[in-house]
Amino acid sequence: MHQVDHSENIITTDHVSFAYGDRLILDDISLAIHRGDYLGIVGENGSGKTTLIKIILGLQKPTSGTVKLFGKDISVFKEWHRIGYVPQKATSIDANFPATVEEVVLMGRFARRGIFHNITDEDKERVREALTNVDMWQHHDRLIGDLSGGQQQRVFIARALAGEPEIIFLDEPTVGIEHEIKRDFYALLRKLNDELDLTVVLVTHDIDSMTEEAMHIACVDKTLYFHDSVNDYLKGTHGAHHEHTK
Ligand code: ADP
Repeated sequence: MHQVDHSENIITTDHVSFAYGDRLILDDISLAIHRGDYLGIVGENGSGKTTLIKIILGLQKPTSGTVKLFGKDISVFKEWHRIGYVPQKATSIDANFPATVEEVVLMGRFARRGIFHNITDEDKERVREALTNVDMWQHHDRLIGDLSGGQQQRVFIARALAGEPEIIFLDEPTVGIEHEIKRDFYALLRKLNDELDLTVVLVTHDIDSMTEEAMHIACVDKTLYFHDSVNDYLKGTHGAHHEHTK
């Protein structure tokens, strides 16, 4: 096992709330994600998980509260390439989408180098490395639309990896994916977390998988009613938390 600095928080939200009009979606969320973590953010559909991730990624502004990324307030943070994102439904791609696997992953370099740069040997090398890491290099010149859902998902993870992020967010990545493929997918995430020291944050309603895979669990249902190790979750302390904070 590699050494991770469990004391270094790379992302924190402090008293973050969010409302659509007068409908409160997130209520006073204070969450810290440390380097090397594998965190499962879990909750039922509609509990506010995606909204929380969008706030952390700067795609939505909190109604109140603050977000810090790598020690900087989100309003002044510029190093977005340090954060990878695999959005929900990234895989529902049109079969006629005219891009190869390699081209799709190359797009992941833009966050780091800007859209109008010339493609360098280093870009190509990082793309090859990212596709190798997800075991898809052998498919690099195929059209993305010709791949299976599970293969496309790996390509979208490679696209996020190509920007050389330190943390990667995945939103409901296993929805609609068969059991076998799901197992391979979780094995891949474990490898990225273990061997590449990548901090992994996975948003899902699939609590059972997270108790097997993740190090920490954060339960969101408008409030953050539990955030601790999987062991403590399984011991049932979350029940007490829940009662206490609701
Ligand atoms: P989750 O990811 O846990 O399924 P979301 O963050 O997507 O939850 O949604 C939380 C709540 O916010 C849901 O009740 C949803 O209906 C509502 N919501 C999401 N987007 C909008 C929007 N653009 N306008 C109004 N309500 C929204």
